[in-house]
Amino acid sequence: MRLIHALLAACWAGAPLTAQTNTERIANDHYTRSHDYDLIHQRIEVSNFDWDSTSLDGRVTTTLVARRPGLDSVILDAGAKLQIRTVTAGGGGGGGGGGGGGNLRTARHGDTLVVFLPKAIGFGDTARFRVTYHGVVTNGGGLTFINPEGRAHRPRQVWSQGEDDNNHLWFPTYDFPNDKMTWEVVATVPKGMTCVSNGRLVSDVTAKDGSRTLDWLQDKPSATYLVSIIVAPLARIHDTWRTTPVDYYVYHEDSALARPLFKPTPDMIDTYSRLTGVNYPWAKYAQTTVADFFGGMENVSATTLVDWLPRARDYQDRPWYQWILIPHELAHQWFGDYVTTENWANMWLNEGFAEFMPGQYWARRLGGRAEEDYYLDEYNQFTQIDHDRRMPLAALATNNIYPKGALVLQMLKQYLGEQRFWASVNRYLVDHALDNATTDDLRQAVLDATGENLDWFWDQWIYQAGYPEFSVAARYDSSTSTVTLVAQQVQQDSSKADSSGVRYTTPAVFRMPVTIRVGTAAGDVTARAQLTRRQDTIVVRDVKTAPTMVVFDDGNAILKQLSFEQPTTWLATQLQRDPNLWNRHWVIAQLSQRPGDAAAGAALAQAATSADYFLVRAAAIGALATFPQAVALAPLEAATTDTSAQVRAAAIEALGGLGGSQAAALARRAWTSDSSDVVRAAAVTAMALTDTANRRAIVLQALARPAYRDAIQIAAYRMIAASGDTALIDSVEARAGQDRFALHVLAALGARGSSRALDLLVKHLDDDRSYVRRWALEAFRFSLPRAMGQPRLQSVGSGLKFPDTRQAVADLLRQWQAGSN
Ligand SMILES: [Zn+2]
Repeated sequence: MRLIHALLAACWAGAPLTAQTNTERIANDHYTRSHDYDLIHQRIEVSNFDWDSTSLDGRVTTTLVARRPGLDSVILDAGAKLQIRTVTAGGGGGGGGGGGGGNLRTARHGDTLVVFLPKAIGFGDTARFRVTYHGVVTNGGGLTFINPEGRAHRPRQVWSQGEDDNNHLWFPTYDFPNDKMTWEVVATVPKGMTCVSNGRLVSDVTAKDGSRTLDWLQDKPSATYLVSIIVAPLARIHDTWRTTPVDYYVYHEDSALARPLFKPTPDMIDTYSRLTGVNYPWAKYAQTTVADFFGGMENVSATTLVDWLPRARDYQDRPWYQWILIPHELAHQWFGDYVTTENWANMWLNEGFAEFMPGQYWARRLGGRAEEDYYLDEYNQFTQIDHDRRMPLAALATNNIYPKGALVLQMLKQYLGEQRFWASVNRYLVDHALDNATTDDLRQAVLDATGENLDWFWDQWIYQAGYPEFSVAARYDSSTSTVTLVAQQVQQDSSKADSSGVRYTTPAVFRMPVTIRVGTAAGDVTARAQLTRRQDTIVVRDVKTAPTMVVFDDGNAILKQLSFEQPTTWLATQLQRDPNLWNRHWVIAQLSQRPGDAAAGAALAQAATSADYFLVRAAAIGALATFPQAVALAPLEAATTDTSAQVRAAAIEALGGLGGSQAAALARRAWTSDSSDVVRAAAVTAMALTDTANRRAIVLQALARPAYRDAIQIAAYRMIAASGDTALIDSVEARAGQDRFALHVLAALGARGSSRALDLLVKHLDDDRSYVRRWALEAFRFSLPRAMGQPRLQSVGSGLKFPDTRQAVADLLRQWQAGSN
């Protein structure tokens, strides 16, 4: 699973679960569910999808094996709104459970269905029964029914979402990851629609009335949360990896956009197969786009993705969709679908690997700098999340499994080296193929593959929280030709116990090897040392001439924060010479603190215009924004014609901060002539900042400019929210039905004191259009409380027509306003 990647989107990504665990490895095993049977196969027949009542008819035939003697009843998970019509013994291919065809007694308790077998069966014996039901769903719970409601790019459709435990809301099953089964989805869908599901297509029959029945067979076992159906009118674009079908299902109107977006998929499959030593394990790979999706979901052999297909010119802005989303969900086909976490407290095994693997793909495709680029972004996400709440990787409902998982695996790869790392990964996948695993199983796989017990690594990086914060000082002694570094670990174990009494610990000492590189006029000297104490002293010998730079952790092999005061000349040398991106970004951050230092400005200016990798140029440009005009303007102007759109956007953004007529002119030129929407979005902000007299006109012009993911409109909305310009309320209100952002801006203006903006927002809670009501709710739950410094609201109303909600909202606002007075 991957949520939409943008800070703006974070407020719509749902509330984090509450943690209820501690850091002990053994405690994570506690979260594995027990049950007394083993699911073997489910045949799931669904039909009569009804978009008005959000319902369907289902018939599910379950085959299972008893895991205890005398099994007389089977407890299944089945949503309380599934109306069970009949439960009969046997089903389809014959008897089981001691006789075929007879009605079985059942009992219902909430989301549980108990099926009483005709007679008790023995340990290892097989039972089969068939449940027929009318399944009503709360829209969005297990199944999402989408109606166009007059909106463009939104065909009528249904999609399922199982993870974590929502599939039982549309078919009875065992809804926990520790029981794998095979399954078959037989779906009858309306005329003009198709159904995409897991496994291979066994048959596809069109009836006289135009309805179609498609039969998909998932014949290798996987977890029940990965059962998927998508029902929609879709075009299929066909590709292959070796002989395996690779299909892209998109709306008909998106047909021409599909291949440019998805075309790296076979190469990614090939790369992952080679790296892991395990060939892509499933019968086919389908990627299907749907509306209102939260990002992507790795349903086995049938990934579901959001319907945001970039146009040709959007690729210069490196869309997140192709950079992370596609390779992330594909990686899950091995990590998550082939080997599955045994319980949700070890979910980082799924998500950490899925987030790690794209960096490995891009490394092979684009080289080592792209690899470092990928993990630098993960690092920035990780430190932000860790700052908000520090939690370990292996824990229930932990908040940091994506970036921290990726970074810890990258660190493990650097520690072990490529051969030993991939041999360990192969061992893990082979030993737990088509089965479950826990965090300790991965440690065991490394031990089995390399002979090295990394219990200490698991303890500090996976079972405990936090990461090392180094404070380093270096001293050169010419008489002994030595550089002496004192490295202190200053991280504090300051986590508080949560409401359930759980307290996560941060190690006082992280134990890791580190490499020091000292540059001199006569060449580099390196030394390797073991960090084992709160304060370590490292002596680098044979430094015959004064250092020109000192690099702590050459190659950035440790996930860390670094404080290391150095002369500008050392930093400038490192910026020119160190290939590593994290290290160069760290250097740029140091130099950015020295706006009065001409040497710092010169070093940044040179990097801004001539560094070999675009991200370094962009970072140097960002740093120059705080330097005097005389230093910054020339390199920023040069950067506005850089070949990289990211660099141009950084330059325009920095110019907006710098101000002045030249900056304003450059921003205007970018607005009228740049080919990138991201650059033009930056230009909107820069123009509004440098040309305040025309701000309103600029914002209105930008609101009317369509762009991929609304990049330009978002820049305009941000400007309205930041400036608090209530004269633009009508223009924002006019867009309330076009995009979700308009309502968030109304919330922001409301939080700044505009009662008219608040009134309009409240009015949209009763909007005739359900999607506008939903957007208004989002704005109320997230943006408004955030802008007013209040905790986000878990719920306001139900998303339907709700007269009571207006009153509730009015009460809430009164309460907040009273509190802030
Ligand atoms: Zn994922």
